[in-house]
Amino acid sequence: MSEPSPLPPLREVIKKHGLTANKALGQNFLLDTQLLSRIAAVPGELQGSQVFEVGPGPGGLTQALLQAGAKVTAVERDERCLPALADLADHFPGKLKVINEDALKINLPELFEGPFHIASNLPYNVGSALLIKWLSSPTWPPAWQSLTLMFQREVADRIVAEAGSSAYGRLSILAQWRCDAKLAMSVHRSAFTPPPKVMSAIVHLTPKAQPEGVDPEMLAKLTQTAFSQRRKMLRQSLKGLPGGLDALKAAGIDGARRPETVSVDEFVTLARSLSA
Ligand code: SAM
Repeated sequence: MSEPSPLPPLREVIKKHGLTANKALGQNFLLDTQLLSRIAAVPGELQGSQVFEVGPGPGGLTQALLQAGAKVTAVERDERCLPALADLADHFPGKLKVINEDALKINLPELFEGPFHIASNLPYNVGSALLIKWLSSPTWPPAWQSLTLMFQREVADRIVAEAGSSAYGRLSILAQWRCDAKLAMSVHRSAFTPPPKVMSAIVHLTPKAQPEGVDPEMLAKLTQTAFSQRRKMLRQSLKGLPGGLDALKAAGIDGARRPETVSVDEFVTLARSLSA
């Protein structure tokens, strides 16, 4: 059998298929194959693994994931990208499935048999909503094994922030109460075509054991209430939450503290008390 012809450089793929970046779809493409291979290495060994990718676009990260040995299911909203992705699928027979859909509408557990990783250079406009959706899995551990996600640097900082830092908030707690969350690499804005206004970073999240006795919805409500008034003391903001002040007392947390000083473990203790 003859070898398939080599894949064209991504710049040519973009030109051939007229993939001018659509701002509304958060299209900032990555074309540097070395950088893409480094991103595809973040989840660890992918040989024989399944990967879910949001927004493959012209297929740079998709190709790096396939080259790392993964079987990829990708969901892309922009149908202009489909012919380019079909070329890629021809190159990796049986290894790439593309779904033309809005990623927010995808019910992941239905899509995969067995474990899978999630990897994406996320569109900025839906990145946080998707992360929160994946973190809110009603079953834990979730169906996914890891998340490797590109965010604006400022959002990435919020995901991994520790209590006491200015970036610490709701997203930090929702990410860290049942995941290990790490900053895997910073990505300069010039790595993208077109370059976005801000810097980016890849975060890597892996599920850990979920603390017992905590209703995830209660934790979401508690953090929402506490951080909606970030500068207020806890006893002020939690007044509106039934049982809020009692939970503070039971947890031995000084009501004069501000939410950004309260650790993830302390929020978990509060949520457990409110869930009881
Ligand atoms: N993966 C490519 C790369 O790294 O060069 C493209 C990344 S670009 C930042 C984001 C991609 O997500 C675009 O291809 C865009 O069309 C797609 N996209 C935007 N909103 C989407 C949504 N709701 N569902 C699925 N794909 C979406």
